[in-house]
Amino acid sequence: MLTGRTKLLGVIGHPIGHTLSPRMHNAAFAADGADYAYVAMDVMPDRLPAAVEGLSALGFVGFNVTMPHKEAMLPLVDELDEAARLAGAVNTVVAGKGGKLRGINTDGSGFVEACAEAGVSLSGRRVLILGAGGAAAAIAVAVLGEGVSRLCLANRTIEKAKRLRTRLSGFAEGAEVLVRPLDEIGEAVAEAEVLINATYLGMKEGDPLPFPAASLTTEKVVCDAVYRAARETALILHAREDGVRTVSGGRMLLYQGVQAQRIWTGREPNVEAMSGALA
Ligand code: NAP
Repeated sequence: MLTGRTKLLGVIGHPIGHTLSPRMHNAAFAADGADYAYVAMDVMPDRLPAAVEGLSALGFVGFNVTMPHKEAMLPLVDELDEAARLAGAVNTVVAGKGGKLRGINTDGSGFVEACAEAGVSLSGRRVLILGAGGAAAAIAVAVLGEGVSRLCLANRTIEKAKRLRTRLSGFAEGAEVLVRPLDEIGEAVAEAEVLINATYLGMKEGDPLPFPAASLTTEKVVCDAVYRAARETALILHAREDGVRTVSGGRMLLYQGVQAQRIWTGREPNVEAMSGALA
């Protein structure tokens, strides 16, 4: 039940009607009797600064940021954590003392936690990320932090992948970071042990697979940042049919939320309730 003391959280994006985050977070609060409420808020891009100021004035404990605001959020916070700065994207904001806003990125660390749940260790592995947008950048930062030996970035717009590699250069200690154009995706896939789709491919019915079907073999791990309500993506379904180990966008979504909730509440979230709400 909402009370005068209920602490407020939410997600801002546009459009926002499809979001699963309120269901996921509120399920955990209800299961544990925690006095928090999480709401979805549709914010037009030109109203973002006003919305952020409003949330701060209303005393929100924190909020998530989703498409298309993750990059535009960077200059609107008072402090940025390293993952958000390197990734160039904020997906979580926490209000500190005096209303100071801290911008965080839990997409990449959520991906790593989803890998850990699936028993996938990234240390020393050769990883290919398809995509060079916000999700790809956040995952790139996180997998480099896990000590991958080689990170290959492939993207339709090659210049974006090159810019991401440049941004990562000071951070990629000990790892080889290279860029491949999409017409060399076959070679890039052959060289990698862990394949990660961080493009939009798979969001719509009938999208082509992001990686060639024949390359999804049992010595690889196949991961998808894309998630769909109530069903897996074609990439994940295809890989599982062939007995390939997978990490789905749904588990990444779960763990980016688990990490955000840990930061906002300072307590261990009810992962089972959150996972159940997404199922
Ligand atoms: P973004 O910043 O807009 O980047 C989109 C990326 O997809 C770009 O690299 C773009 O390539 C590529 N792309 C788009 N359409 C393509 C196509 N038809 N063929 C090949 N590449 C294409 O978006 P984002 O925030 O990174 O999100 C990417 C996906 O990850 C979305 O589905 C999003 O929902 C998902 N995501 C999931 C989670 C999670 O928790 N599971 C978290 C964050 C994001 P160009 O550079 O050439 O345009």
